[in-house]
Amino acid sequence: MSGLHDLTVAQLAAKLAAKEVSAVETARHFLARGTANGGLGAYLSTNEEVTLAQAREADARIARGDNAPLLGVPMAHKDIFVTKDFPSTAGSKMLDNYRSPFDATVVSRLADAGVVTLGKLNCDEFAMGSSNQNSAYQPVKNPWDISRIPGGSSGGSAVAVAARLAPAATGTDTGGSIRQPSSFCNVTGIKPTYGRASRYGMIAFASSLDQAGPMARTAQDCALLLSAMCGPDPDRDSTSLDVPAEDFTQSLGNSIEGLRVGVPKEFFGEGLAADVRAAIDGALRQYQKLGAKLVEISLPRTELSIPVYYIIAPAEASSNLSRFDGVKFGHRAKQYSDLLDMYKKTRAEGFGDEVKRRIMIGTYVLSHGYYDAYYLQAQKIRRMIADDFQQAFKQCDVIAGPVAPTVAWKLGEHGSDPLADYLADIFTLPGSLAGLPGMSIPCGFGAGHMPVGLQLLGNYFGEGKLLNAAHQFQQATDFHLRKPEGF
Ligand code: GLN
Repeated sequence: MSGLHDLTVAQLAAKLAAKEVSAVETARHFLARGTANGGLGAYLSTNEEVTLAQAREADARIARGDNAPLLGVPMAHKDIFVTKDFPSTAGSKMLDNYRSPFDATVVSRLADAGVVTLGKLNCDEFAMGSSNQNSAYQPVKNPWDISRIPGGSSGGSAVAVAARLAPAATGTDTGGSIRQPSSFCNVTGIKPTYGRASRYGMIAFASSLDQAGPMARTAQDCALLLSAMCGPDPDRDSTSLDVPAEDFTQSLGNSIEGLRVGVPKEFFGEGLAADVRAAIDGALRQYQKLGAKLVEISLPRTELSIPVYYIIAPAEASSNLSRFDGVKFGHRAKQYSDLLDMYKKTRAEGFGDEVKRRIMIGTYVLSHGYYDAYYLQAQKIRRMIADDFQQAFKQCDVIAGPVAPTVAWKLGEHGSDPLADYLADIFTLPGSLAGLPGMSIPCGFGAGHMPVGLQLLGNYFGEGKLLNAAHQFQQATDFHLRKPEGF
């Protein structure tokens, strides 16, 4: 059926509930689009039989009068969430064809709400990267210009949504991985407050930073999906917060007259490309038109967030990834002389270059003699970055600025220089280190007609306010409805 792929999650859910279209037809439609656009590299695995069985189950629930909010809505999951019915690779050869015996909490919560799984989406290996070029399988191409990267690490998720291969997708954000690919692909994405979504079954990268969130077309869809994804999971994730699940759609009708929008001066320095700046300035003017007040704020340690993040995240990664030793699951080297040799060969073969680099950096900064100089210092500055935000939130309700300094770059443009990628994370890292909720919403186009995202950051538990600020912007603009040519 044509046009089904242009519907939002809210529109699809309404059509499904009214039995104007069945979950099976909907799933078939999206599966066919995924196959036809396989060249984008977004999907790592699909399984028609499993998807259609879930769709039939959703149709049966609809027929029984079940009123779960997302009944029959198809979605695809970043391959960092474990699933029992699809392989879970984390974009790594280490987990090639790995099958989990259980579903991640976020996946099972969405399934309870009625979501049908279309498959698993490509990402940077273990979510380490900003371009998707670190996937051990294939690069993902940006549908706005296939010579460009889609961003990362949730690049497959952003592309699936942008190219209409799925109405929505899950992503994860450790240092920007939901916001940055959303920005580069004209998608709306939200990372909630750290601890809102359970990390159970999310293959761990940096546990004190990792959060799950939805990526979709609209803030309204993100509100619907995030409401289903969040909630306490005390038995399975000790960092999941004891805050009841919330219906974020309830916040969407509020006026933003008088909303104080903080504009951090450090986000508008030399490094910000002129085309991105123009789009962000336009978005800020739009907020003024909607009655919001712009307030200049300062986040003085913005630059420090890069070294701080690139110490803390690798430190945690080096510990988390020690479980991949070839013993219980994942890749194991075929030939080895003894146990130590098995570990070494397994890890040398299973991990890609960026993952190895981070394990080495992480091990270094945690080692005796360097711990105090690097890791401990980074932890102290992390706290100061979080405090800076609390100072800022005395003057404003939400913070707005760019997601990234440039639009999506060309595949291979950064060559083999990892620093070029790291530096591009500058505007997303501060919010991650502080554990704050953050969004990216489409706000214009820059060089090469590439999308630009506006970053909105809120205070802890401010998701409702953020989603409403985004929703009001989307009521007045149509950037989020534009799609790449040919899709
Ligand atoms: N680009 C950052 C990194 O490479 C963030 C990745 C993420 O959020 N998963 O670590």
